[in-house]
Amino acid sequence: MKIQHNNPDSCTACTACIAQCPVTAVTRKFRGPKMVGPALERMRLSQEDTEPSLEYCSNCKNCDIACPSGVPISTLNMLARAKSFKNRSHSLRDDMLAHGEKMAKLAEKIPGGAFLANLGMNLGGSLGLMNLAGIAGERPLPSYAAESFLRQFKKFKQQSCPDKVVFYPGCFINYNDPQVGMDFVAVMQANGYEVIVEEDFVCCGSPMVATGYLDEAGEQARTNTELLKKWRQQGYPVITCCTSCGLMLKQEYQELYDIEGMAENARNLYDGCEFLLLLADKGKLNTHFAALEEKVLYHAPCHLRAQGFGLPALDLLELIPGLRVENAGAGCCGIAGNYGFKADKYDISMAIGEKLFQRIKDSGVDTVVSDCGTCRLQIAHGAKVETVHPLTLLRRAYER
Ligand code: SF4
Ligand code: SF4
Repeated sequence: MKIQHNNPDSCTACTACIAQCPVTAVTRKFRGPKMVGPALERMRLSQEDTEPSLEYCSNCKNCDIACPSGVPISTLNMLARAKSFKNRSHSLRDDMLAHGEKMAKLAEKIPGGAFLANLGMNLGGSLGLMNLAGIAGERPLPSYAAESFLRQFKKFKQQSCPDKVVFYPGCFINYNDPQVGMDFVAVMQANGYEVIVEEDFVCCGSPMVATGYLDEAGEQARTNTELLKKWRQQGYPVITCCTSCGLMLKQEYQELYDIEGMAENARNLYDGCEFLLLLADKGKLNTHFAALEEKVLYHAPCHLRAQGFGLPALDLLELIPGLRVENAGAGCCGIAGNYGFKADKYDISMAIGEKLFQRIKDSGVDTVVSDCGTCRLQIAHGAKVETVHPLTLLRRAYER
């Protein structure tokens, strides 16, 4: 994990970040990472300066991965974005996209809950109301699950085991894709672990940071840091299966805030596949997999690559007999969290994803595997294929 320091003077103007920025590659509306990040940050340090094209940075982190000088370009951009909102208000659209957890909790409370909320979103899309609100109506919004992960988990009877891990589901898995959480529990049980879920965890704050709500995300960071510290002190590793949550909890908290205990917590935090691969390295992974006779493509999310621990899902899937898995290796899918849901960013987001969509179509696969929930939505939308989390395939191989 690379924690970077917010010093724009480390930039040597090598332009590696420009070559890797997926937004710069498809639109001239964005002036590019070097200019909007370190170059303008020097100006911002000495005077109030606003740069309109900053709006187009997707916070995908490809520039940070590429920078040989360790300049946290995307973080400089997110700090500048938050600063620009000191003198202007957020739109209703930004408010909605930044507060997925709050919206999901509201939907849970209304009679008819998820069903009515999903119906409303679909109707809003077909009637063009989403576009009026600044949300891309061309793209289906992620639907709410009939029953959240937390509710399903509470009803599930686990085998008690001496080894335990704590699960951080994040809002997307909890409210939109609880199956991934239940697959995680099943895979951990197959490996002799009992899963604990901390109900007081809150949204990691990643969508808030990307939309300029830095102070509010800081409050979330404080709450989560305390809870992560509690579990660390009890000796339980904490695991997340959402790559954006993982990046935020492990790395971005440290880059954006100064809260005691974040660095120690980060050393106790794991991505689900990262944790399982560590078990495999120690010879402790249950490898009693049944064969899965199919071919799949794997898409590595940018927020996973930014964490710098390789592609553990790819290594794990290669252990399943019969499964032919290929790395798509086609770069960013374009959605970048809530970026691709914005009406004025939709075309950019789809243009970025085009290389990946074409790669999927050329491969002839029906299923694409990816660790990130929003990458899976973008791939299903752009390439019209089934998408799954790697843990779903691992669970299938254990249970066949
Ligand atoms: S975070 Fe992504 S979109 Fe923003 S400057 Fe870096 S590479 Fe470009
Ligand atoms: S990659 Fe890093 S050092 Fe090179 S231009 Fe971009 S910010 Fe500067």
